[in-house]
Amino acid sequence: MMRDFYEILGVDKNAQPTEIKKAYKKMAKKYHPDLNPGDEEAETKFKEVSYAYEVLSDEKKRQIYDAYGEDGLNGNAGTGQGFGGFSDIFEDIFDIFGGASRSTRYEYQNAKDIPQKGPDSRVEISLDFFEAIFGTEKEIRVKINEECPHCHGEKMEPGTSKHKCEKCDGTGQTKTTQNTPFGRFVRTSTCEECHGTGEIIEEPCKVCKGKGKVAKNKKLKVKIPAGVDSGNIIPLSEQGSVGENEGPKGDVYVYIRVKSDPVFKREGNDIYINIPISYPDAVLGAKIKVPTLKKLVDYEIPKATQGGTVFKLKGEGVPYVNRENKRGDLYFKVNIIIPKEVTDDQRELLEQLRDKEPEVSENKKTFLDKLKNLFD
Ligand SMILES: [Zn+2]
Ligand SMILES: [Zn+2]
Repeated sequence: MMRDFYEILGVDKNAQPTEIKKAYKKMAKKYHPDLNPGDEEAETKFKEVSYAYEVLSDEKKRQIYDAYGEDGLNGNAGTGQGFGGFSDIFEDIFDIFGGASRSTRYEYQNAKDIPQKGPDSRVEISLDFFEAIFGTEKEIRVKINEECPHCHGEKMEPGTSKHKCEKCDGTGQTKTTQNTPFGRFVRTSTCEECHGTGEIIEEPCKVCKGKGKVAKNKKLKVKIPAGVDSGNIIPLSEQGSVGENEGPKGDVYVYIRVKSDPVFKREGNDIYINIPISYPDAVLGAKIKVPTLKKLVDYEIPKATQGGTVFKLKGEGVPYVNRENKRGDLYFKVNIIIPKEVTDDQRELLEQLRDKEPEVSENKKTFLDKLKNLFD
């Protein structure tokens, strides 16, 4: 089922980020589980509102949602457990409740233990004109961090051990008390001894130098749906860099760039082409061949077709992404070709023609008459 996130938050499709945030805060306040204990409906609503906000408050996710709907966001739908994307939302809830929702937060005592989603990655991919129109599958390479295969993310040499940092008692943070003219302040800072990890590793992993992860050029297959265009983004959910503390992997965003074609010009889902025709064909009408995206088709142009006339072939344009049967249109403009050189035979025929074109001479005469009036 497709949910309308704008409707859920009660905002307009063109809503500014500040309006979205305001609407979300209002809703979150109304449905927050702490304020509606035991009310399952409110809880469901709260999750829905939070998810809608998670998407619409993230410029990238919003763009994907606008283009592809909720399906475009892949496996992210309807969570409520994943901490990754929710960190911002929890921050916001803290804003609202001044930390009151700590009970619903998590059992983790220290910030260092909170699962964190891995960073997102961005890859650009260049497609040929027709690949974008008909869809294809591409292999991309993306630089990400993977769990170190030697220490499995433990950061230390296998077989060695680690111990709790004594300086910060394993919290990763040290507190210093400062006396100022305004009173005493307790300042919290990252422990220098363990750099905030709360642990002292005796022998760091030799492969990852104690980072727990290694850089890798990962190969990924990307399915390109028919109809994509430059500027579209394909999200590969949780295919990117490894997270912290069992957090989910980051996403990979594939940015599409489409090469142009010498014949077909594309504007959105419509296609434009120019077709040369001869003067006799324009005057007498003719059956001409028109290239569509798939094949050449016959088209009957009527007699007395003027140069620059545009004809439309309905449904012969580019398919809309993820809407199989909806396609744009193809427009072709006819240009009358004036030969640069003619043979003697042709010249003779043209001269005969010139003398025998009453309509043309008539037009010329009226035109000259108008000029005369102009200069009188
Ligand atoms: Zn390692
Ligand atoms: Zn420490």
